[in-house]
Amino acid sequence: MGFWVRFWGVRGSIACPTPRHIAFGGNTSCVEIEADGQRIVLDAGTGIRELGHSFMKRGIDHANILLTHTHWDHINGFPFFGPGYDPSCKFDVMAGHLADHGGVRQVLAGQMATPMFPVPLETLRAEMTFQDFRAGESFEIGTVKVRTALLNHPQGATGYRIESGGKSVCYVTDTEHVLGTHDENILKLIDGADLVIYDSTYTDAEFPEKVGWGHSTWQEGVRLCQRAAVKQLAIFHHDPDHEDAFMENLEREALEMWDGSLVAREHMRLTLI
Ligand SMILES: [Zn+2]
Ligand SMILES: [Zn+2]
Repeated sequence: MGFWVRFWGVRGSIACPTPRHIAFGGNTSCVEIEADGQRIVLDAGTGIRELGHSFMKRGIDHANILLTHTHWDHINGFPFFGPGYDPSCKFDVMAGHLADHGGVRQVLAGQMATPMFPVPLETLRAEMTFQDFRAGESFEIGTVKVRTALLNHPQGATGYRIESGGKSVCYVTDTEHVLGTHDENILKLIDGADLVIYDSTYTDAEFPEKVGWGHSTWQEGVRLCQRAAVKQLAIFHHDPDHEDAFMENLEREALEMWDGSLVAREHMRLTLI
């Protein structure tokens, strides 16, 4: 059994499918993980539409969908996830920030309620379960261990660590760092991980203008990963204003700062085992 990660959406905030976003991709957050035969989908941004097509081609009929939070860029693809309308499929949706706020089912139903969307949540024909937990709790999906942590983001967000066969991937978006300190919750979550996918919406140069917006920088990602002895950083949740030329330059700078960095691109696949 393998352990790999594939990026279906790497943008933050809003999808930006322009000719100037082709190289890195314009869809919002969605990452697929296969670990020891289990399938995990992280977030349901617009990238989940293409993932749905891929599931249908590959005959995949079950996955666990773990949401970091329910801002638009992390759930807007959900009503366009084709296998959700297939009665032979089953999906288990979980979120860690809504236990006191109506729960994840109600929030996803709200997104599809009239008059914002023509088809209500009840139209989904796949067997769906919706489960709320509290960020910081741990659980298992088959043999895969999942640890979580509360992130620093408006209305809360959940960071995930997914472990299988002695390897680990962390998904840490969306979150804001505090200048001059490192987030202890994140350092504990990512300690010694093989791959950390990190909210790199801004650069350090842009950050002072964006304090309070709930996001971090790729340089903070490098600092956290180096401090926590992480093997590889995937720079993720790119700002829609960071077009391809900007991102290519950012990629060069990141590699100069730390050769354990890479910039996530749509359809990129990384193998852990
Ligand atoms: Zn976001
Ligand atoms: Zn957000």
